[in-house]
Amino acid sequence: METDGDTVWMSTVYRILELFVKKGVIIKTNVMNNEKAVYELNRFKHKHYAICINCRKIIAMDNCPMEKFTPKLEDENFHIMSHNLEIFGYYKDCDPA
Ligand SMILES: [Zn+2]
Ligand SMILES: [Zn+2]
Repeated sequence: METDGDTVWMSTVYRILELFVKKGVIIKTNVMNNEKAVYELNRFKHKHYAICINCRKIIAMDNCPMEKFTPKLEDENFHIMSHNLEIFGYYKDCDPA
């Protein structure tokens, strides 16, 4: 039986990554409506990403605009655990402007 070496290798990598995610060693962030996933070492800090609309290049954001932001919820019986934020735009060469 012929096997595609790359595919086998990639599925092995993903299995290991998912295992690390489960153990909390790395954080998986889904972007582009789960089309893509970004894996990062868990430094007890979450990250946000800016994504190029054209080539889908992903740039990590160093800060979080939500850090000093208290959301005003209509129902206060809600304990906020996390948030999700994505920035969209054009990277250098893709900028039509
Ligand atoms: Zn681009
Ligand atoms: Zn944040």
